[in-house]
Amino acid sequence: MFESIHFKSEGRKTTNASKPEVIAKLRAIVGDEHVVVSPEKVEPYGADAVKEKFPPEAVVFPDTTDHVSAILRLANEYVFPVTARGGGVGYTGGAVPVDGGIVVGTDRMNRIVEISEENLYAICQPGIRTIEIQEAVAKKGLIFPPDPASYKDSFIGGNIAENAGGMRTPKYGVTKHSVLGLEFVTATGEIIRTGGKTVKNVVGFDLTGLVCGSEGMLGIITEATLRLLPAPEATSTVRASFKTMEEACHVLTKFTPEGLLPMAMEVIDRNCIGAIEENFAFGFAKEANAILLVAVDGDKLQVERDSKLVERILGENGGFDILRSESAGEENKLWDARRAISPSLMKYSNLKINEDVVVPRSRVPELIARVEEIGRKHKTFVANFGHAGDGNIHVNFMCDRDKPETVERARKAVKETFEASIELGGTISGEHGIGYVKASYLEMAVDPATLEVMKGIKKLFDPKGILNPGKMFLS
Ligand SMILES: Cc1cc2nc3c(=O)[nH]c(=O)nc-3n(C[C@H](O)[C@H](O)[C@H](O)COP(=O)(O)OP(=O)(O)OC[C@H]3O[C@@H](n4cnc5c(N)ncnc54)[C@H](O)[C@@H]3O)c2cc1C
Repeated sequence: MFESIHFKSEGRKTTNASKPEVIAKLRAIVGDEHVVVSPEKVEPYGADAVKEKFPPEAVVFPDTTDHVSAILRLANEYVFPVTARGGGVGYTGGAVPVDGGIVVGTDRMNRIVEISEENLYAICQPGIRTIEIQEAVAKKGLIFPPDPASYKDSFIGGNIAENAGGMRTPKYGVTKHSVLGLEFVTATGEIIRTGGKTVKNVVGFDLTGLVCGSEGMLGIITEATLRLLPAPEATSTVRASFKTMEEACHVLTKFTPEGLLPMAMEVIDRNCIGAIEENFAFGFAKEANAILLVAVDGDKLQVERDSKLVERILGENGGFDILRSESAGEENKLWDARRAISPSLMKYSNLKINEDVVVPRSRVPELIARVEEIGRKHKTFVANFGHAGDGNIHVNFMCDRDKPETVERARKAVKETFEASIELGGTISGEHGIGYVKASYLEMAVDPATLEVMKGIKKLFDPKGILNPGKMFLS
């Protein structure tokens, strides 16, 4: 730990940020017990799901928007880094203070302010877990559609800052499609309010959309107005095996010509099937080299009709061993295979480099073929699964963290996978964001003129570069 709170990167000078003085001022803002400085207590706030450690100098837990504003005004005056943190389960190191400074933990700002059944919105503070919002609105017969797999641990502030996706994206979109308005605090401490309680709102620029996915670099979100929908009466899932991944992925575009937009379409490749069979013995046929799970929702009659239609389409396009759920219990069982993938893959090796590239849905078969070729070229085991219905595939390069040459080969494979995704009309991240992990690849995906606009926006919201430095932009 240091006597001053400062930027770790060279050339960034912190003005007057004597650590004891800053800590005293932070304590005066939020109360003594809400500023943590002891090394063992700050350590967990130095890592997220990437599991690399960059402990902060202090962790501060505000309770109100005014607290957040006062913290940021202080940081802007003394010029030290501030990184906002939600549940800390990001996959690109977004919540990790790589350039030093303090972490602002939103854990205490965890209230649901209002749920309006008449107007279909919920107003929430940023530190509430995604699952708690989903459970609260479910009691009123409503849904908040975004459903990242990390929903039991992630906070809504983190979901918005990452613009998280999930299984239901093909039908309901990503987080930004369910955010009506925001309150956030810029780096200079200004409190900004965007959007509102209505689906329609075209007054001024769409700052809500801008802050969704801004990875804590433009401001700290202090309140969100979320869009709700009536809960569908029923859901059903159909699962089919295919002889090839190509066949399975070709089916993705066969539903809309029949007037059907499934809620979820998830694919699993043969290497994932091998891993889950080894660990859980689901009993898939030997010739099953790919699995497709397709879910529909709506009223009971519609779900019965649509799930039978899905069953037919899968059968007509090479699917076999087709199972259609007729109850919630059956449906849950069908998804067990999908849930088993991540833990099973970790039994193959001790490091999984998990990418989340995305391409237009019709290009998924080409993406898979390219990725498999890249894996062979770099002698790296690759397992693909994920949200094929929106073109977002989790490409997992497996390597051994104790054998640097295997990691090096996997890194080369990652870069070529990014190149392939861009060539196919997609991009390098569909839902995990850039953080520090993918910052060196940003220029592959964003042209120079657009990048300059992004940097200009950052400067406007954060003139001294104190919010989440070391992320997204290399300079
Ligand atoms: C097992 C697992 C499954 C996952 N599945 C999915 C998935 O299905 N879909 C998906 O999209 N992602 C998934 N993720 C990635 C991750 O969980 C999401 O990105 C999630 O949105 C992160 O939320 P969090 O609260 O943990 O954010 P954190 O990791 O704490 O922070 C993420 C970013 O948000 C910023 N931030 C946090 N709070 C605020 C705030 N109040 N104001 C401004 N900025 C803020 C941080 O500075 C950081 O840049 C998964 C991760 C894991 C480990």
